[in-house]
Amino acid sequence: MNAAAVIDLRSDTVTRPTAAMRAVMAAAEVGDDVYGDDPTVNRLQDVAAERFGYAAALFFPTGTQSNLAALMAHCGRGDEYLVGQEAHTYRYEQGGAAVLGSIQPQPLPNQPDGSIALADLTAAIKPDDLHFARTRLLALENTIGGKVLPQTYVAAATAFAKSRGLATHLDGARLCNAMIKRGVSEREIVAGFDSVSLCLSKGLGTPAGTILFGTEPFIATARRWRKALGGGMRQAGILAAAGLYALEHHVSRLQDDHDNATYLAAGLRALGLSCEDPQTNIVFVQIPPALVAGLAAQLRQCGIAASTGTRTRLVTHLDVSRAQIDTVLAAFDDYLKISAAQAAVMENTVA
Ligand SMILES: *Cc1c(COP(=O)(O)O)cnc(C)c1O
Repeated sequence: MNAAAVIDLRSDTVTRPTAAMRAVMAAAEVGDDVYGDDPTVNRLQDVAAERFGYAAALFFPTGTQSNLAALMAHCGRGDEYLVGQEAHTYRYEQGGAAVLGSIQPQPLPNQPDGSIALADLTAAIKPDDLHFARTRLLALENTIGGKVLPQTYVAAATAFAKSRGLATHLDGARLCNAMIKRGVSEREIVAGFDSVSLCLSKGLGTPAGTILFGTEPFIATARRWRKALGGGMRQAGILAAAGLYALEHHVSRLQDDHDNATYLAAGLRALGLSCEDPQTNIVFVQIPPALVAGLAAQLRQCGIAASTGTRTRLVTHLDVSRAQIDTVLAAFDDYLKISAAQAAVMENTVA
């Protein structure tokens, strides 16, 4: 199958750089960033820090490495961080904080809205006693599973952490989706967090890159860890140029992805499928167990890639148009009709 023809709803990481983005990448001024010599990396870090209201920023190859360096900058060996059971840093990063950082995670249940109950946080903070790990940090994620944390919760949780002497880190891989959904500024969406990690390679459409924000001393420590973790890049300005382009051109357009997700969910519901209301760009649709097995093949035949299962995940992004959403809905419609017809034949055969 021609890769360009695929409507790829597996993730918003599958976006390819646009022609305009490639042009700024090709033209980027570069230097050796391990020496701090890459002017484009430096500009991205300065522009992003100013825009999100932090003293300093650091460019990473991936979000996983940015989160890990942040956790290692906040916590030392034998410290612990409070984190949601569903959080990326706990669940989807191979336990890197523990494996590579000697940091113990204290996972806590995520509520249906993605928050962690303050009562659970209170109960999990360990007293100063040599039997216990030292509780040092609260890590939250926004968006989480496509959901935007309530702003009042973020304010309460970060204030609570501060009152208990904990640092706060936000895994904001899809932070710009949260910001667009809430209709607030960059500075408002990150208010209260000591550090924030923001992916440029998801809905923002760059080929790679994540930015970590924090104070100058925090970023200096994170820069040391980045080198230890193998993230010291050389002429990374080629990637940073894409990041600068994305921050300028691909943030407000995230609304299109959210609108497409809402449209897709409404269409799937109209076909009789049970579908959660998407808050941002991620649609979860329930597929009856008997229909799961054939779905991926049917979609593939129509040039559609998706993470299928009983809870199928469909992610909208910059390489998916409204017309393509209509193609997806038509493919689901066909599949449901074919399946219903087959079921009717089976029933007649049995009778
Ligand atoms: C994708 C993602 C990351 C990690 O990003 P990579 O660049 O793939 O390492 C971290 N946190 C969240 C919430 C993510 O969605």
